[in-house]
Amino acid sequence: MQYIEEPARKLPVMAETDVLVIGGGPGGLSAALAAARTGVKTMLVERYGCFGGVITQSMIGTLAWYRSNACTVDAGGIGVEFEQRAKAMDASLSIFLYEVVDTEIFKYIADQMVKEAGILPLLHCTIVDVIMEGSTVKGVITESKSGRQAILAKRVIDATGDADIAYQAGAPCHMDPKEKLEEVSVNFGCSGVDIDKFLTYTLTNPSSIADWGDDSGEKESDEFSTFLKEPFRKAREAGEIPDTSTRLQSYWGNFTDAGEVTSLNAIHMPNIDATDVHDLTKAEIEGRQYVMWAVEALKKYTPGFEKARLRTIGASLGIRETRKIEGVYHLTEHDVLNQAHFDDSIGIFPEFLDGNHIAVLPSTGRYFHVPFGITLPQKVENLLVVGRSVAGDKVSHAATRQMMCCTVTGQGAGVAAALSVKDKVPCRQVNINAVQKELQKQGVRIA
Ligand SMILES: Cc1cc2nc3c(=O)[nH]c(=O)nc-3n(C[C@H](O)[C@H](O)[C@H](O)COP(=O)(O)OP(=O)(O)OC[C@H]3O[C@@H](n4cnc5c(N)ncnc54)[C@H](O)[C@@H]3O)c2cc1C
Repeated sequence: MQYIEEPARKLPVMAETDVLVIGGGPGGLSAALAAARTGVKTMLVERYGCFGGVITQSMIGTLAWYRSNACTVDAGGIGVEFEQRAKAMDASLSIFLYEVVDTEIFKYIADQMVKEAGILPLLHCTIVDVIMEGSTVKGVITESKSGRQAILAKRVIDATGDADIAYQAGAPCHMDPKEKLEEVSVNFGCSGVDIDKFLTYTLTNPSSIADWGDDSGEKESDEFSTFLKEPFRKAREAGEIPDTSTRLQSYWGNFTDAGEVTSLNAIHMPNIDATDVHDLTKAEIEGRQYVMWAVEALKKYTPGFEKARLRTIGASLGIRETRKIEGVYHLTEHDVLNQAHFDDSIGIFPEFLDGNHIAVLPSTGRYFHVPFGITLPQKVENLLVVGRSVAGDKVSHAATRQMMCCTVTGQGAGVAAALSVKDKVPCRQVNINAVQKELQKQGVRIA
């Protein structure tokens, strides 16, 4: 590769804050809300034009679809608040015991929650580098329409999903080779659907988790699933969609009285490294081609979709797995499947796994503690990592990547960062009992 030398230059300091959260997905939003509610100056920076991460960029409103059974023990806290806020605004669809959040209105809900908490928001701003003093993070470098600037912060929370900040800070991270990463998706929505006809078809031809194929678990495999495979199989057999490694099968969420099915999670593309700009470009463009084929297949082979039109394509590719940090603690398959207990619990998460070829629904009431140690990167100070890039193995990732679990790590780290500022101690020396007390005050179940 050819290189050029970038000349050193002075950068304006745009802001100084106590806690700086980077990335406005479920993890980052929760971290910022929790830090601000603990009483410190908090800033939330997002590279796109709205908060919500996968919720708003890929139209995924099923924050707690695992909650199909009264036995499920739930986390509580900010994730549940997201659902409640949407329900209160008539911006969700109640299915069984969970809410499918209207992902367009969630953009507004996130804005309101950020405003109410007194967080300083910054949209359209990408963090491109870190400011280090030895192994301590002191701030970040931003790129936006305002140019290249700096933000100084006492604590930084990396909620980028890709551990961008931890990686730039030199914290040990790992990422599987791309052929072993979870697939990426371009999600879409349709209008012009005859909802009654479609629901009748779905209920008379019910799908279960067993139909997922590779991803089905042994437990609960008979459980009903909003899942469509037939239309795409038929289109492939008819030669209308090429036979490639891209899997076409749709988990669909949310429908409205206006004849919309707002989220079709149908295009599953393997072998993409979502930290590589060329792979990202390829996946977006190929994904949109598949969307066009998928819509035609739905129209031709799915009752209720005959007059459907493509309504939306996700603003960004949906990404499930990239870098993960090497943490002070490494969560394991054994932990998430054996109700692990941790003294440094920052919340609980039901025994729900979906991804990396495993699916387990928490119908038994079993749950595990989420330890603070998985948010603490090795070797770097003043930094916490939340959301889908917390430390752990492949199987535990199938739990920690879930949006509700991202809100658990986010809220826990937000409170920990805030208290470490208040008590003037490094994050890894924060008083965990005080963190747990504050989390309980905020509605989080710790044990
Ligand atoms: C297609 C798909 C379907 C899914 N379905 C479900 C489901 O039904 N239920 C469920 O619970 N989970 C589901 N998941 C998983 C879940 O959505 C994600 O794991 C979760 O959103 C991760 O949250 P996060 O906050 O870590 O990251 P994200 O939601 O990815 O948010 C990260 C945010 O950081 C921003 N960002 C990234 N880098 C930078 C930077 N350098 N500077 C500034 N901002 C930056 C991004 O723009 C983004 O807004 C699904 C995932 C996908 C992709």
